[in-house]
Amino acid sequence: MGKNLLTVKDLTVNVEEKEILHGVNLTIGKGETHVLLGPNGTGKSTLGNTLLGNPKYNVTRGEIWFHGKNITEEPVNERAKMGLFLSFQNPLEVPGVTLSSFIRSAVELKTGKRMRLFEFRKELEKAMEVLQMDPSYADRDLNVGFSGGEKKKAEILQLLMLEPSLAILDETDSGLDVDAVRTVSAGIEAYRRKCGGSLLIITHSTKILESLMVDQTHIMVEGEIVKTGDASLVEEINRDGFGKYEKSLA
Ligand code: ADP
Ligand code: MG
Repeated sequence: MGKNLLTVKDLTVNVEEKEILHGVNLTIGKGETHVLLGPNGTGKSTLGNTLLGNPKYNVTRGEIWFHGKNITEEPVNERAKMGLFLSFQNPLEVPGVTLSSFIRSAVELKTGKRMRLFEFRKELEKAMEVLQMDPSYADRDLNVGFSGGEKKKAEILQLLMLEPSLAILDETDSGLDVDAVRTVSAGIEAYRRKCGGSLLIITHSTKILESLMVDQTHIMVEGEIVKTGDASLVEEINRDGFGKYEKSLA
């Protein structure tokens, strides 16, 4: 498999007895940035959740390979340890757990090493600066009372601190104002510089892509990837919409 980081073969997924993904194929190389586009309700988040190993998403056919290992049956924590990261479309609020302690446990879980609090806090503050987050947020309960934009920034903060080898960003830019999109985009760039990780960006807007080099674009319609191309596909979709690809399935 050479330099491939992620290989998805014929992935077929049921959610509550209903087949949502019908044989998805996808390959992401080390250090590559991929974009996944598609109409609402087409299965993009389902793909993200399945790659992460959310048990609600039942793989009925096909395989997921990551770092040369078949992870189709691996639990979420194993995949996270191996360097897979999913930024949720709707991040959960977790009362009683601060943002800082949440990230520290996640980092320790991934590396298997205890981290000295002082060093951790120093690194966290640096990352929060990149994201223009007020340092006081570190000691607030995770996402509780955070605005939509602040939740998204908290997700990118995890990305910066965890340095996953593959980050799946599920509409991390949706509902953000122009400045917040720019900040999130700067955070993604900082992640790329820091560890050279790969990205699968699920998005509806191109603003977040402006400052990123996109290697491949995939279009998903009704649970299938119907087209893969280069960055220019994003412009085509922006101009013409998904109609052409929806019809080709009918
Ligand atoms: P997208 O992210 O492309 O908008 P989703 O993957 O969220 O689409 O949804 C695809 C389909 O799967 C939808 O019909 C949705 O209702 C269904 N689905 C996804 N996740 C769940 C879930 N946890 N429970 C029930 N249905 C789900
Ligand atoms: Mg979605």
